[in-house]
Amino acid sequence: MGIAPSPIQIDSRVTDFIAKPRKMLIDGKWVNAVSGKTFPTYNPATGEVLAQVAEGDRADIDLAVKAARKAFDSGPWSRMTASERGKLVWKLADLLEEHMEEFATLETLDNGKPLTVARAADVPLAVDLFRYMAGWATKLEGTTIPLSVPYTPGAIYHAYTLREPVGVVGQIIPWNFPLLMAAWKLGPALASGCTVVLKPAEQTPLSALRLGELFAEAGFPDGVVNIVPGYGETAGAALAAHDLVDKIAFTGSTEVGKLIVHAATGNLKKVSLELGGKSPNVVFKDADMDAAIAGAASAIFFNHGQCCCAGSRLYVERPAFDRVVEGVASKAKKIKVGSGLDPATHMGPLVSEEQLQRVCNYLEIGMAEGAKAASGGRRIDGKGYFVEPTVLVETKDYMKVVQEEIFGPVVAAIPFDNPEELLTRANDSVYGLAAGIWTHDVSKAHRTAALLRAGTVWINCYNIFDAALPFGGYKQSGWGREMGKDVLNLYTQTKAVCTRL
Ligand code: NAP
Ligand code: MG
Repeated sequence: MGIAPSPIQIDSRVTDFIAKPRKMLIDGKWVNAVSGKTFPTYNPATGEVLAQVAEGDRADIDLAVKAARKAFDSGPWSRMTASERGKLVWKLADLLEEHMEEFATLETLDNGKPLTVARAADVPLAVDLFRYMAGWATKLEGTTIPLSVPYTPGAIYHAYTLREPVGVVGQIIPWNFPLLMAAWKLGPALASGCTVVLKPAEQTPLSALRLGELFAEAGFPDGVVNIVPGYGETAGAALAAHDLVDKIAFTGSTEVGKLIVHAATGNLKKVSLELGGKSPNVVFKDADMDAAIAGAASAIFFNHGQCCCAGSRLYVERPAFDRVVEGVASKAKKIKVGSGLDPATHMGPLVSEEQLQRVCNYLEIGMAEGAKAASGGRRIDGKGYFVEPTVLVETKDYMKVVQEEIFGPVVAAIPFDNPEELLTRANDSVYGLAAGIWTHDVSKAHRTAALLRAGTVWINCYNIFDAALPFGGYKQSGWGREMGKDVLNLYTQTKAVCTRL
């Protein structure tokens, strides 16, 4: 097993779970791939194989979609009351909470993130999301509508709307928050009464597969949730194109998001997308500097920069620029990088060899184009996919490191002189996922928030997530919103019913 020597004893339930090849969940049963193939998932702290997982492909997706179709069209799920559905989702949250330590450990082993972070953020946020969505199951209401039809004078109608589940949903998720992304997708789908085929990322399938076991324990009927691990180009593409899928929900790169849109055209399934970002984090000279510096560091270094909303362009008003750069660089140098299992670790490895290469490649390109590193700038030698937390200065707006999503612990610090110039430069991006503003001036904060083209704006904070707060992108950062009541629009559709009295 590819587990790094670590000061903590790994839970025996986790070692047992990864010791056996993991199967996929279709129609309530754990099955091998039709092809019999498996693929490895790696421990990014060591680069060694962590577990073998059934490799889903078109044939498995087809079986899973048919199971979800049957469960939606004629299974016990379709006859359940909203309250019964809500209770099941709540029960799932309880079970997840009971197994908090096990899930946090699986997440750390498969993804690399510090166990302290998985315990404090990933698992509790997933629990909270399921509970929040459980409450919505009983509150998806239509409206009654007064009609005044001009061509039937004198006629009286009783008209109302129903909010109905959209049907069978395909969900494709990334590796950066494997369990939490599964929760963001599954919670609203199940609260709305949809059935699901979920494809986790090839790099991090384990927590979703363990979650799959809890669905049966919670009492969900067979076929309501199907989980098919596999590769994006095969299993993912087959799911996005399947004619019996009514909706596809995707989180990942903007590039693959565009492929999903194309794949969905066959049956014009509904599509929602949560994609990349290159989010501006803006520090005005009147900000609380200690808070802004700490906030700017965590905006980019949290989850090793592998966040779609990472504050990767740090705009600082010129008089404060040197102080903020020094402050963030000094914090970067103090970050302890190491195995996520070590309680002293602040930052673990990147998720994969491929991601390490991608980040290192951007660092090389940035330096070749003239950027300088105020801290970091290199891979950390040895086993595992570790890279130094990096602050780049002397960048130009046209550089790739300023324009493109790196998805690693690399921030470009950029001075600005006035608010108009700042807004033009901050909005000069194909992305529009998130933004941060640091200032004591309330009026300036809200004026700037209104003018930033981003789906989320954090003022004097960053990376604050709540199940009730909608999250999603402007521009090429996506279609639709996750979380909050907004997300329920993606999983329900409106039926208008009109009766002549
Ligand atoms: P990705 O390729 O977009 O992967 C996201 C999910 O889509 C994975 O489950 C992936 O499967 C699947 N997928 C890949 N190709 C597909 C296809 N043709 N049809 C259907 N599904 C497909 O992202 P990545 O390669 O993991 O990371 C690349 C870059 O994407 C990152 O560096 C970052 O810029 C961005 N990204 C953004 C987010 C976000 O939250 N917005 C998250 C992750 C990555 P497999 O992984 O199993 O192949
Ligand atoms: Mg892995």
